[in-house]
Formats: sequence, structure tokens, C-alpha cells
Amino acid sequence: MKSYDRLFIGGEWVQPSSSSVFEVHSPSTGELVGSTPEAMNADIDRAVAAAREAVDHGPWPHMSPTERGAVLARAAEAVRNQMQEMSELISNEMGSPVSWGLLAQVLAPTMILDYYAGLGSTFAFDTVKDGMLGPVMVTKEPIGVVAAITPWNVPFFLAAAKLAPALLSGSSVVFKPAPETPLDANVFAEILADAGLPKGVLSVVPAGREVGEYLVNHPGVNKVSFTGSTVAGKKIGAACGANLKRFSLELGGKSAAILLDDVNLAESLPLLLPNAIMNNGEACISLTRILAPRDRYTEVTDALVEMVRNMKVGDALDPATEVGPLVAERQRDRVENYIRIGQEEGAKIAVGGGRPAGLDTGWYVEPTVFVDVDNSMRIAQEEIFGPVLSVIPYDDDADAVRIANDSDYGLCGGVYTGDNDRGLGIARQVRTGTYMVNSAIPIDFSSPFGGYKDSGMGREFGEDGLELFLEKKTINLPAGYSPSV
Ligand code: NAD
Repeated sequence: MKSYDRLFIGGEWVQPSSSSVFEVHSPSTGELVGSTPEAMNADIDRAVAAAREAVDHGPWPHMSPTERGAVLARAAEAVRNQMQEMSELISNEMGSPVSWGLLAQVLAPTMILDYYAGLGSTFAFDTVKDGMLGPVMVTKEPIGVVAAITPWNVPFFLAAAKLAPALLSGSSVVFKPAPETPLDANVFAEILADAGLPKGVLSVVPAGREVGEYLVNHPGVNKVSFTGSTVAGKKIGAACGANLKRFSLELGGKSAAILLDDVNLAESLPLLLPNAIMNNGEACISLTRILAPRDRYTEVTDALVEMVRNMKVGDALDPATEVGPLVAERQRDRVENYIRIGQEEGAKIAVGGGRPAGLDTGWYVEPTVFVDVDNSMRIAQEEIFGPVLSVIPYDDDADAVRIANDSDYGLCGGVYTGDNDRGLGIARQVRTGTYMVNSAIPIDFSSPFGGYKDSGMGREFGEDGLELFLEKKTINLPAGYSPSV
């Protein structure tokens, strides 16, 4: 049990303003695994006030980026010392298979923390140059108070993706994790405090949508960094736009994997499948549309179905599990509803479609493959957020690109082919923020990541991810003056 009776506000564990509590139950067993106080508007006020004070009068923005980076490096080290516990905690919160979680939910955040720790010494916060009319200094300053809002599916990963660059920038952060995954967020707060983060710089306020809206609209907040659904992202973008508040959005996806006609299925499907049914299908970057050449359609679906049929479904804490339970009953209802919709639309279930035998407690759905899918169907257009794939036939390369692009989303994608040049040519034509050519790696933490179209605005990771938390100031200097930077 991981239970908290206080909220981490302004760097201290304080009495919450209400007695309301979030209980966290294991999606595998239903058992209570922890609890934490629910933050209310009054707690947000306190957190924003502490963050304001920290950024307006505290030491953090004035410490050198190298010193701030050192805090992140110590946090990464602390996480590495508790990888297994952290992975199990996250599996207990949201059902991620623990083996996958060790890499994606825990190791990856240490890489993100380390990357930004290193950028503290190498990033050019100040540059001096000859401008068009005289010497110019461009300085990049902390954006101020950041509201960081995350969903439950990769909670610690997304927290690291926001907090590492925001903190490196010298900004302060009010972090609102999702109600399903507040416990790992509290652990992250403990880790960062132990790593030397000064008081006031970070608050963690587990809360639901309404309190999240209050945070977004809070006049003390300078920037909203949001990851979540496109519906919520549009609302948040509109609210921020009305007040010219800075915002960045990482939203949903419906990404396509294109298998070209020269593909070697034995080599490519093992690269593709872990990215198609990743994290129980609860991943924004999942390759949920599989585009297969019409004259190899049966061969592709047979091979894919065979692999999906053999995926081990089970308790998230079992190291052998490849597909765990969905986060909650309502998520299983949502996925089962889409499975019904797919059948009503005329698609056929080639494998899965039901609940796995012998797993009577927990929110399990069988990994499912639909065949005879047309890209106009709802199951091919809407984000299901579960282990459900659609295999769609295409006629030629141009048709494959057309289908891949026939989506409101544009987050990820991949092409699998015997010819890398041909694959790169396809990559250049698909309108998404990140892409794989014969690769199993969808995200590189030193490079921009984000969405075209309804998948978001702005780019996380790499230097772009840091720039999201910086304001740029140009200082025109007198002739002959060249400050050292
Ligand atoms: P959601 O939008 O319902 O909630 C996400 C977070 O935002 C939660 O903390 C929630 O409490 C809060 N929230 C919701 N509405 C809000 C509002 N109006 N104002 C302020 N806060 C609000 O999303 P979800 O269903 O929890 O998460 C799944 C979604 O997240 C999927 O669409 C998935 O694709 C997306 N996602 C995107 C990325 C990415 O990097 N692009 C990564 C992970 C998940």
C-alpha cells in the first residue's frame, strides 16, 4: 500500500483543504493499492502562490542551468535505484505490463531526466551576435509558472517529459496528474525534493477535470503544458488563447503502419507489433491502423493474427505478461463498445473481440484484430485506446500514403519495406510528427516529438522541449560592447 494523507505543495507535505481522497485500485485484481488526498481549488491557489513566489523571488531561476541540471541528474540516479518498485507501482495504478513498464515507464524517464540534465551545460541560454544594425544579445528566460497536466497512460514518463525541461528552464511547476495515477507523481515529488529542488518550485496536485480547468484558467499561471485527449486539448487551447497564455498540447493519435509490397513479414512484424499493441493499446503513438498491400492482404493478416493470438494476456505484475488489463471498467466499456461498432460497420474480427478466459477479475479485453476494414469506418478514424487493430488493404504506394494521411490525427507512423530509400520516401509524405522506417523506436528523447493536425501543438523532447518553457528576449547592445556569456 502506498498511502499519503498530505499534498506536496510548495515543496512541503501539507494538510489538504478537503477530506476528499483518491483511492487507487489495481486494474488487475481490484485491490486497493494506495490513496492520496484530492486537491481542490484552494489547494491550487496555494500551489500557484508558492510557484509564483519561487519564480519571482526564489533562487531557482537564478541558479546556473548546470546547477539545475545537477538536480535532474540526481533525480535520475534515484529513480534508477528503485526501478522495479516504480514499475510495479505504475502497473498497480494503471495496468501496464511490468516488464514493458520497466523500460518505457521507468527507464525512459531516467533517460529524459539525464538528457535535460546534460542540456543544462550545453544549451545556449544566451547568445551574442552581430545583428543587422549592431550587436545583439538574445537571452532565453524561464517562462514562469507552468501548469503541467498529464493523463494516466504513461504517467511518470509524461511527468518527466514536462518537469525535466520546465525545471531546467528555471520555471516553477504546478503538476496535476490524472486521478488514476497520483501515487507515482507523489513519489516523483519526493525524489525531486531529495535531489535538492528548492522549496516552492514544485507542487503536485492530484485532481480531476474541473480542478484542472481551474488551474488552466488561474491568472498566476504563465504556461500550460498539456497531454491528453484532443477534446480536452481544444478546450484548453481555447481557454489559453483567450488570455494569451502560452500553451503546448500533446494529444491523441490514430497512426498507420504501412507494409510495402516488398516487406519481409518475419522481420517487420516483430518490429511493428510492440508499437501497435503497446501498453495494452493505451498509447497515443500506437500503430493501430495496419495498411497491407491488397495482393498480400491474406498473408499479412494471417501472420499478424498468429502473433496476436500468441500474446500473453494476464496480471500486470506477472513478468511474462505482454497485455495487461485496461485502466478501469469505463475504459473496458469504451473498448468493447468500439468492438461492437466495428462489427456493425461490417469489419470482421480475425482474432480476439471478447474477454480472455480465466481472468474474471480485472478489466481485460482480448487483443483484437479487425480485417476487411475501410479507412472511413469509425474504428479506423477514432482513437479506441485499447488493444484493437484494423488491417486496411491498399492498392499502391500512393494509395497507402493517401490512407495514412486520411485521418484527423498526425502523431506517429511507420513504414516497413526491404528498401530503406523507398521507406524514407514514404516517411516524407506522411503528415505526422514522428515516424519510423524499419524501426521499432518511435521516440528519440533528443529530437522533437509531437503532433500534426489534431494530435497537438508544439514539440516536446530535444531542445524544442526546453524551448517550450522559455521566453526569448532580444537586447540591443551599444556598438563595441560584447558581454561574455
Ligand atoms: P483526458 O484529456 O481526459 O485527461 C488528461 C488529463 O487532463 C487528466 O489529468 C485530466 O484530469 C485532465 N483534464 C481533462 N480535461 C481537462 C480540462 N478541460 N482542463 C484541464 N485539465 C483537464 O485524457 P485521458 O483519457 O486521461 O488520456 C488519454 C488521452 O491522452 C488519449 O487521447 C491519448 O492519445 C492522449 N495522450 C497523448 C500523448 C502525446 O504525447 N501526444 C501521450 C499520452 C496520451
